[in-house]
Amino acid sequence: MADSAHADTVTIDQLVDWLSRFRDLVVDKQAYLTELDSAIGDADHGSNMARGMKAVMEKVTAAGTPSGVDQWGKLVGMTLVSSVGGASGPLYGTFFLRIGTTAGATSTLDGASLSAALRAGLAGVVSRGNAEPADKTMIDAMGPALDALDESLARGDDLAAACDAARAAAESGRDATKPLVARKGRASYLGDRSAGHLDPGAASTALLFTALAGAVGGKAT
Ligand code: ADP
Ligand code: MG
Repeated sequence: MADSAHADTVTIDQLVDWLSRFRDLVVDKQAYLTELDSAIGDADHGSNMARGMKAVMEKVTAAGTPSGVDQWGKLVGMTLVSSVGGASGPLYGTFFLRIGTTAGATSTLDGASLSAALRAGLAGVVSRGNAEPADKTMIDAMGPALDALDESLARGDDLAAACDAARAAAESGRDATKPLVARKGRASYLGDRSAGHLDPGAASTALLFTALAGAVGGKAT
């Protein structure tokens, strides 16, 4: 990170790299995500995410580098909403759409604006899905990730370190969904029998933050 001219900002190229890394991770982990969803859902989370992110990268590749984060978020969000049938499509779609509308036409984000945009994304997921913390959903990985990002930035860490802290917290949040009883989505139909399994959406959200940390820190995922 020391050799980066943009150590304290995230560029639009890094946001595109974030998507590409997320696509690679969900494709690589498709069977794992599907296995998690077969325990407490309908065994389609891996294929939903792989299909959605492949469609996103096809669109981004065809359209060329977006001029601003607003255009980036709109393209990603609309593609996820239209290409993923499951609950996760509109939820992740809303996440990216809100990042775009909050960040606006800018092509770089500093720590404060990245945090504000991601928080707006989370708020969008919450308003769309009505989940509360500990309902055993993707927000149980997203919320802790954004708290860790903010705490890291407040300590004076650079963006690469802050995004890596977010990744670690997302993974802890994913793991913490295991004992929870699902109160939203398909898994809630199982009632108490949903306990003892990781939430698939929290697992894909951990991959989302692994991809972000890779794109911002320049590390291989
Ligand atoms: P579906 O449940 O329609 O088959 P997916 O399997 O792709 O869709 O996604 C399931 C994931 O979506 C869950 O593991 C959970 O993390 C997330 N999810 C479902 N409903 C909600 C909700 N209301 N709020 C937040 N996340 C939700
Ligand atoms: Mg499913």
